[in-house]
Amino acid sequence: MRPLLRVSDLTVEFPTREGVIRPADGVTWELEEGRTLVILGESGSGKSVSTQAVGGILPYPGRVVGGRVEYKGEDLLTNRRLRQRLRGKEIAMVFQDPLSSLNPGLRVGGHIVEMFKVHGNISRAEAWQRAVELLDLVQIPDPEDRVQRYPHELSGGMRQRVMLAIAVSQQPSILIADEPTTALDATVQAQIIDTVRDLQRNLGTAIVLITHDIGVAAAFADDIAVMYGGRVVERGSATDVLRRPRHPYTEALLSSVPHVEGRRELAPIPGAPPRLHELPSGCAFHPRCQYAKESCTRQVPELRPLAGGGRLVACDLSEQLYAGVETAESAGGEHT
Ligand code: SF4
Repeated sequence: MRPLLRVSDLTVEFPTREGVIRPADGVTWELEEGRTLVILGESGSGKSVSTQAVGGILPYPGRVVGGRVEYKGEDLLTNRRLRQRLRGKEIAMVFQDPLSSLNPGLRVGGHIVEMFKVHGNISRAEAWQRAVELLDLVQIPDPEDRVQRYPHELSGGMRQRVMLAIAVSQQPSILIADEPTTALDATVQAQIIDTVRDLQRNLGTAIVLITHDIGVAAAFADDIAVMYGGRVVERGSATDVLRRPRHPYTEALLSSVPHVEGRRELAPIPGAPPRLHELPSGCAFHPRCQYAKESCTRQVPELRPLAGGGRLVACDLSEQLYAGVETAESAGGEHT
């Protein structure tokens, strides 16, 4: 079946004083209808830049220098008019900081009414009524009152719910959410996650969620793409990636956070994420990889399917490294 959104070999460049950098280099992933793809990575891994490029909102002076972004088979990168028509209607986005996305001089309801003005053909009175219903849908208490409020009169969590209400107002097929819970405290984060899950269940929207938080990924994802140094290094179903990682970076990332069942020693990843100005040669993870060999410094590993299918990994030693683990797992053991 054709995916709803297919991103292939997407490459983004930014000129800087220290030279041209590639925060996204050959990024490839797919989003199936009604599913949630989590793009997981540390800061600077390229997860936000690549999705900004997908949404057509790459900040200046960044530019896409290669690849395709196909929505239902149509390339959005070459068809600007189609992309503009789809943005906000078929493909909606929610960001980390709702305050900077909301107009301080516009009431909450006014933001939603604006969306209907641009994309819908309903009357102003109907649009206000829909705004109240949408605030209710994203579980904002007393929506009749809140719809009249200005953004600064609401808490951070409520503002993020407003952003979700705006984003889903046109019943998009795809919602791209970039670290939507990062600025919020843990309780509110959990509530927002529940709200997004409910929205997906009720509206069938496919979601691309960008996060650095493995807990959020585990709670949300159907599929996961792990990014490092501007590239996708592992991609597969959430169960496979989180329970049986097949890239040393994913393995290290999982070992650096407390296990869900709390029975594992924490092992922070040594070193720091690479600077894009001076990416290590070959596999960008090699200075931090416990399995690195001399050959890893020579060639950038391609994202390739593992034997057995279903999983893509960018590590030339993966099959060899995890062969023993594979045997233990099939005998009933668990790697993570
Ligand atoms: Fe580690 Fe080498 Fe695989 Fe990179 S290619 S992840 S350095 S083993």
